[in-house]
Amino acid sequence: MDKNEKYVIEIEDMTEDGSGIGRIDGLAVFVKDTAPGDKAEVLITKVKKNLAYARLVNLLEPAPSRITPACPVARQCGGCTLQHISYKRELELKRDRVLNCLSRIGGIEEPGKYLEDVYGYGCTLSELGDKSYSECETVTKPVRYRNKMQFPAGRDKEGNIRLGFYAGRTHSLIPLDDCINGHEVNEYIISAICNWAEKEGISIYNEETRKGLLRHVLTRVGYKTGELMVCLVINGDNLPKNSEEGLKKVLPEAASKSEGITLKSVVINKNKKNTNKILGEETYTIYGDSYITDYIGDIGFQISAQSFFQVNPVQTEKLYQKALDYASLTGEENVWDMYCGIGTISLFLSQRAKEVYGVEIVPQAIQDAEKNAELNQIENVQFFTGKAEEVVPAWQKESAVPIDVVVVDPPRKGCDETLIQTIVEIKPDRMVYVSCDPATLARDLKILLEQGFTLEKLSIYDQFCRSSHVETVVLMSTDFSRAQVHPCRKPMIMKNG
Ligand code: SAH
Repeated sequence: MDKNEKYVIEIEDMTEDGSGIGRIDGLAVFVKDTAPGDKAEVLITKVKKNLAYARLVNLLEPAPSRITPACPVARQCGGCTLQHISYKRELELKRDRVLNCLSRIGGIEEPGKYLEDVYGYGCTLSELGDKSYSECETVTKPVRYRNKMQFPAGRDKEGNIRLGFYAGRTHSLIPLDDCINGHEVNEYIISAICNWAEKEGISIYNEETRKGLLRHVLTRVGYKTGELMVCLVINGDNLPKNSEEGLKKVLPEAASKSEGITLKSVVINKNKKNTNKILGEETYTIYGDSYITDYIGDIGFQISAQSFFQVNPVQTEKLYQKALDYASLTGEENVWDMYCGIGTISLFLSQRAKEVYGVEIVPQAIQDAEKNAELNQIENVQFFTGKAEEVVPAWQKESAVPIDVVVVDPPRKGCDETLIQTIVEIKPDRMVYVSCDPATLARDLKILLEQGFTLEKLSIYDQFCRSSHVETVVLMSTDFSRAQVHPCRKPMIMKNG
């Protein structure tokens, strides 16, 4: 196979980042913008030892699950990878990826029999039943789900100031008037900021020369409260004199065009570093508060520009509710929430637990967690800052508190092995594993299942609709807990008591 040659290929599968995979002479070929089931003419762009990359040239026979993307710049933009596939098919692909990992890496036989459902945005996969892909498109529309957007600033071909997104794997700007994943209010905010910047002669940051002021615009919307935050990221200390007043006038007007939205916060974030990180360390408020408030279930959260907060509030609430259901709390249990972030799951669980212990590596997140506990007058949670694999074993040695339930929500690399061993020693009655990477989930489950844990149920959640990311919630029990509740063991427990 040679570079720059054209081939006809059938797409059989999909990679984690949403590229189609087909085969030419047994060699796997990765083709962006294709869907499993497509027959396409492709141009080879790169050949490696065991695989090749190609570009879609001509779609000969589209897969039945193909749809016209709802977004006009879906192909160029690096944000979504699955806009060209029907939502039902997206949910099926996500399900298949999780189940494949569980059987291939986790060694779990027929993992599908543990699966409760795939919970999509506005529908579950089982609700869609036998409906055809095109029929399902009229039922489900996973749009406008993101509460946070980050738009880089740039100029279009005519030299006008624009906000937008970066094209896939590059930093060239695709100008946008709106993004269908975000809240409608973004359209008015984008337009107001671009007009303001032109009028005030605001310079735009250039990554090569490192000159220019405006780098990014970040927006955050509380989906339950309607509160809006706008954050301008600048390569400098201040906006030019007097331009701030103009901004404080146009932004509330723009926000009020969107029903139910109130501008609560305008902040300036200083980022003078040559970095891919969007936010710098310092933020100051020029309008309203330094934060907005939103709710997950009944728990309120104060969210500042820098806070981590789940981006899909509707799905997050469903996912946490499932974690709570799996934990089966009665009010008597002691619970560990490992990798707790700003304590979202800990606070959710605390409503029905005796005591919740949370551990998280980022000190700022623990500060937020403590503040959120206070805000909600929750007193039965304790937070620890540090590596879970260090904090939990040390706590376990010192503490006599028996732990009934362990919840983990690790980053993509999964749980540390030392931590897994400590969890095995803790012997909780139940363990709930929330995972954003099916491969590391399967790896960790293999160890846990070999060491006395039993897989009970799992559910899949689509938190990042139109991207290939997928979240899984797994419930495991331990044989230990079975022994305790098993009627034959009752006399033994009575003897000890
Ligand atoms: N449960 C939280 C966040 C989960 S994201 C929520 O739902 O909001 C995973 C978290 O693990 C991140 O906040 C990350 O900072 C943290 N983390 C990463 N490595 C860690 C480690 N070794 N020990 C403890 N926390 C860690």
